[in-house]
Amino acid sequence: MSGRRVDVLVVGAGPAGLAAATAAASRGRLVLVVDQAPQPGGQIWRHRDGEPAPARAMTAIDAATKAGATFAARASVIDADGPARLLIDCDGHVEELQTSALVLATGAVERLLPFPGWTLPGAVGVGGLQALVKAGLPLAGTRVVLSGTGPLLLPVAATAARSGATLTVLEQQSFARVAGFGLRAIASDPARLGDLVAYRAAARSAAWHHDAWVLRAEGEERVERVVLRIGARELTVACDWLGAASGLMPRTDLARLLGCTLASDAIAVDARQATSIPGVWAAGECTGVKGDAAGAVEGMIAGACAAGDDAPSRKLARANASGRAFARRLARTFAPRDELRARVTPGTIICRCEDVRAGALGDGWTARQAKLWSRAGMGVCQGTVCGFAGTSRPPLGSPHLGAWAAQLASPTTSPTRGMHDS
Ligand SMILES: Cc1cc2nc3c(=O)[nH]c(=O)nc-3n(C[C@H](O)[C@H](O)[C@H](O)COP(=O)(O)OP(=O)(O)OC[C@H]3O[C@@H](n4cnc5c(N)ncnc54)[C@H](O)[C@@H]3O)c2cc1C
Repeated sequence: MSGRRVDVLVVGAGPAGLAAATAAASRGRLVLVVDQAPQPGGQIWRHRDGEPAPARAMTAIDAATKAGATFAARASVIDADGPARLLIDCDGHVEELQTSALVLATGAVERLLPFPGWTLPGAVGVGGLQALVKAGLPLAGTRVVLSGTGPLLLPVAATAARSGATLTVLEQQSFARVAGFGLRAIASDPARLGDLVAYRAAARSAAWHHDAWVLRAEGEERVERVVLRIGARELTVACDWLGAASGLMPRTDLARLLGCTLASDAIAVDARQATSIPGVWAAGECTGVKGDAAGAVEGMIAGACAAGDDAPSRKLARANASGRAFARRLARTFAPRDELRARVTPGTIICRCEDVRAGALGDGWTARQAKLWSRAGMGVCQGTVCGFAGTSRPPLGSPHLGAWAAQLASPTTSPTRGMHDS
């Protein structure tokens, strides 16, 4: 890959990235899709090595391949000298790649709000638990509690139930609000009803609760029980695995590194999916959490415009507007309740990378002061988890530092700017 040049580089091989690659490649552009994951498919179509990808993933992957796009697995964009020159960690080798256009389809990450015991072994995110099961974690005969919010609870509950777990599912929002959201979502896209029925049927053995969330996790070496709040009641249940998160948030670390403008916590884009940085487009969850179908529509527009189209077709523009309306409803309906933030005690770890407890932070400290005076947010995740993320600093993720440093020191890197002089 080193020194390779492409017309369009797509970062992320989920539904949005694959749609963008297909649109750009079918317009005759030289397109490369990179993803840090071992296979294409993104979060929704994640599957175990050696296992066939889900049918919908195969359709999207085949379309991109047939259009001429190529794919690099275990390839993570870790640094950038503007949108045209990127450093990519390819399985431990850090290489430079040049592109004329860049499409960010970096997806979402889980919003992990701290509570007592959230860092115990056995406590992970909601999507995180699903990823572990898809990587081979056996759940048969275990007691699993899922505490979260929004549509992601459905596929994860189905996965856990199918794996033989005894399941309790807690949705922070009230039944009325969730039902209202669901009915509107089905009215705007009846295909969603099929998914809903299939997921609920798969998890019919689970105990579902609304107005409910985990207050704390307890255990010596690992999670052994959790204290739950269900309506006005508080109860303790035995638990082997806890999947707890407060919805999804756009993944913007690369966009922030490039200097893209954010709108609330998502990459700001216009009707062509263009970001504030010329030559950079964005699509999918990274521009606002909206699910795979709406993400693919954004991908089609971003790929076409990165390949030179002036504007999306009317049909795509209409579909995009409805996807964005769905994203706004999703964000409004499943925003974390204030009670979730009130779970933190002075002894609660708020930055797990740097082991910083809430009590170490002074009242009224800004995020910057907290970083400087407690190191909160200065660890491996660069504040992505604990929310102290400000500007993004390279390298993104945790690449092979030696290879990165070697690349920075190499003569090919532009002498004037150099990737980073410091
Ligand atoms: C943990 C998790 C599990 C989920 N499970 C489901 C599910 O089961 N069902 C469902 O309907 N929805 C699920 N979702 C929601 C999911 O976000 C959407 O359904 C859909 O996958 C979004 O598509 P996307 O293309 O926008 O992003 P994604 O599918 O998330 O794809 C983004 C890709 O970008 C890659 N990437 C990001 N940054 C870089 C970088 N710097 N370098 C290289 N690669 C990079 C990531 O590895 C990822 O594969 C899940 C979300 C999460 C976070």
